[in-house]
Amino acid sequence: MAQEKWLAWIDGHPTAPREGRYFDVEEPATGGVLAQVAQCGIDDVKVAISVARRSFEAGVWSTMSATARGKTLLRLAQRIRDEADELARWETRQVGKPIRDAKDEVLTAADCFEYYAGAANKIYGHTIPVSAAGLDYTLRVPVGVVGLVVPWNFPFLITAWKVGPALAAGNSVIVKPASYTPLTALLLGRLGTEAGLPDGVLNIVPGPGRETGEALVADPGVDKVAFTGETTTGARILQLAAPNITRVSLELGGKSPTIVFDGVDLDRVAYLAAQSAYANSGQDCCARSRILVERESYQAFVDHFVKHVQNMTIGDPLDPENAMGPLVSASHRNRVAQYVEKGVSEGAELVLDPRNREIPSDGFYLAPAIFAQAKPDMSIVREEIFGPVTTVQMFDSEAEAVRMANDTTYGLSGSIFTRDVGQALRVANQVRAGVMSVNTIKSVHLEAPFGGFKQSGMGRELGMEALEMYTEVKNVFISMD
Ligand code: NDP
Repeated sequence: MAQEKWLAWIDGHPTAPREGRYFDVEEPATGGVLAQVAQCGIDDVKVAISVARRSFEAGVWSTMSATARGKTLLRLAQRIRDEADELARWETRQVGKPIRDAKDEVLTAADCFEYYAGAANKIYGHTIPVSAAGLDYTLRVPVGVVGLVVPWNFPFLITAWKVGPALAAGNSVIVKPASYTPLTALLLGRLGTEAGLPDGVLNIVPGPGRETGEALVADPGVDKVAFTGETTTGARILQLAAPNITRVSLELGGKSPTIVFDGVDLDRVAYLAAQSAYANSGQDCCARSRILVERESYQAFVDHFVKHVQNMTIGDPLDPENAMGPLVSASHRNRVAQYVEKGVSEGAELVLDPRNREIPSDGFYLAPAIFAQAKPDMSIVREEIFGPVTTVQMFDSEAEAVRMANDTTYGLSGSIFTRDVGQALRVANQVRAGVMSVNTIKSVHLEAPFGGFKQSGMGRELGMEALEMYTEVKNVFISMD
């Protein structure tokens, strides 16, 4: 069957790629081709950058009143809500995530645009009591043309996390979506124009990271790059941005812990730990894939945990009854499955074996795996697997739990379960991660900063902090003389 062709979104219009190339987007649940998408080459990226620059310098958005910008973003949020069912369906079909999660993701993206709609006219500077006679004040001004490079695991939401604050601050933006999942970002381009964004302010250029992404990041016409993806790609982006001193913020990988102390309700905690590690099939930078449990609770926790993970239904992600769908691609599924083999060969105890579970034979499904008795030097403990695989380790003291939690090159997030408030405060302070939660797995809030320590990135998204990444500080002094 001929597939519908999806065009890039440049200068407020659907735009065919200059070289006429298209790439296939697969549907993870079936393995079939879902869509053909414009592959933007270097020339297309250059056009997108030049129209973004033109719109920025013309001031059609950047110098519009902040209140008017906010109202446009509110209309965009409303357009997303109007189309939430369709957006969620495309999100499910391109990522393979359960439809309920996709709908939640789309509505949270609308919330995100509403938050930044309200924030647009609250981007303040300061007045500073300098020693010279006069008035010294700072302004926060937009950076200019911003390149946003987005991953495939929460494609619509993470696009909103970046586009929302970038537009609220008055920038013109170019989004490079992930090649597995470009469809909902392309729909956002259309919705933005319908909501009243001036042409050239929001552009979407699909294509391979190595070509389209690099062309965007390395171009001297881009003033700032915000990236979410793997740590190795983040390092490459820093290199590409260096010659032009392009501003860069990075949200990278994670290997986050859930720390379970004695005395908590192990059944409840195991249920939450299962949600946090296996939602989105474990393809979540914040997935708590390393579980650390105090000795006395260890075996009971493992038993509850296995039960709750077994109870998670796997199947067609368009069926609202299912809690887990397939992984995003065949190659990613195979990579994750290799970690299961590795864990076994490294000597961890496979207490939930994915090979024993019946799963759909079409598509890129992989059943969940749990390793107990995992040791700190095993690759399954050290490396980000980004799939439905967890390790459970044992500790004997609070100090050991903190040491184990910090024994990683990453530092994105983590959860602590304890009945002792003092312990919660101590451990939350000592774990070297950007986002911690106590007695819950919820640690991402639109209103609060999100980002990583160490190799999990630099800069913060969400909350008012995100606006700092999309503005420059300008200092002005007016002499009294
Ligand atoms: P990748 O780093 O492979 O890709 C992310 C994006 O970068 C894609 O759009 C990709 O394009 C593009 N890209 C790839 N190579 C380059 C390059 N050389 N130059 C410019 N752009 C490039 O990550 P994944 O898509 O695999 O996403 C999963 C990763 O993202 C995990 O490590 C996860 O932890 C991390 N992540 C971090 C989050 C955080 O907030 N800290 C949140 C969500 C995910 P293409 O698709 O064409 O390859």
